[in-house]
Amino acid sequence: MNFYNFINLLRIESIKQENTINLIASENYSSLSTIIYSSSCYINKYTEGYPKNRYYSGCKIFDIFENKSIIESQLLFSSNFSNTQPHSGAQANFCAFQTLLKKNDKILSLDLKSGGHLTHGFKKNFSYKIFNIINYCLDKNNLINNYNIELLIKKEKPKLLILGYSSYQNLIDFKKLNKIAKKQNCYVLSDISHISGFICSGLIENPINNSDIVSSTTHKTLRGIKGGILLSNNKKIFNKINSSVFPGQQGGCISNNIIGKYISFKEANNFNFIKYTKQILINSKIMLKTFLYRGYISSIKNTINHMFLINLLNKCTLLIEKILEKNGILLNRNFFPNDIKSSKNPSAIRIGLSAITTRKFKNLEVELLSNYICDIIENYNNIFKNKVKILCKKFPIYI
Ligand code: PLP
Repeated sequence: MNFYNFINLLRIESIKQENTINLIASENYSSLSTIIYSSSCYINKYTEGYPKNRYYSGCKIFDIFENKSIIESQLLFSSNFSNTQPHSGAQANFCAFQTLLKKNDKILSLDLKSGGHLTHGFKKNFSYKIFNIINYCLDKNNLINNYNIELLIKKEKPKLLILGYSSYQNLIDFKKLNKIAKKQNCYVLSDISHISGFICSGLIENPINNSDIVSSTTHKTLRGIKGGILLSNNKKIFNKINSSVFPGQQGGCISNNIIGKYISFKEANNFNFIKYTKQILINSKIMLKTFLYRGYISSIKNTINHMFLINLLNKCTLLIEKILEKNGILLNRNFFPNDIKSSKNPSAIRIGLSAITTRKFKNLEVELLSNYICDIIENYNNIFKNKVKILCKKFPIYI
């Protein structure tokens, strides 16, 4: 492909991003500073190892950047130790397992259909192939039930309890569940990938003192570059985390991404970020309320984070996703708790509000957008394309 075709494709993608409304709960828009700093000359540099202990020469300046990213993330999450090298959330989880477990050890985690993540034990994932997975599910009220988890821990005696989710609308009682796990000598990994933005803003309880390891992605509500991070307050465990990441899981880290992570951690360590995350909560509550008002079913009647599930019952969610995309609205289809449908055409759609809140959507626009979506779902039509474009023009991603 010649250079001009390549630039043209990037231009088309960025125009598409500007002209579509993104309700994908895993996505967000990084700041221009994060984009610029993470596209630096460090793309060229191998930095295998850790600060002051590298396996290539010429890493002195990078040591400064990596140390800054570590210190900034420790401040952000009030943690004693942090490793900012994992390339992704999945890799961070693998390193956490490798730190705490041996092959075939038992893991207790939230079932995929209840909102758990692939890396928490899905059949086709490494976690299922290497470890012995047992799941807890949501109770009849679609909530995580501490008592059920306690019974399972007593009966199954897992070595690790995973707390964390990809689609769940309520709080987790980290303190109580850690206490239950500790009574049975069970480690706790809190995977805060989706809620890390709220945790560092103090809007959701920080599990750092009630977990052996905390893992997270850096690109969802945290609004940084794509990547992972591992945190702990236990020095002994942390030393193992470091060797589990390198040389246990990877060679060189993605040097330029570490700088992007540093920039976005710094941005999140700011009063404006707290205001931003508060607005996400307001927006997600408004959108869910509008859906409920129009007669839709969610897994519970509230949300304490950026996302929620809407059960579309007999409608084909694959088709709904496509029709919404034709109108310029992006989201993903998802399992609803206890879903009997397939992963290709599950019962629900998952809606996340963090990206549009970055665009500064507030109460009025969110309510308007919610009604557009309900109308599209009910009438299967394409007539909102221009209205969506007008909204996008009013709220550009990058000003
Ligand atoms: N953990 C949870 C709870 C997630 O939701 C995700 C991603 O969606 C991951 C881990 C994996 O993150 P990544 O896609 O960066 O590997």
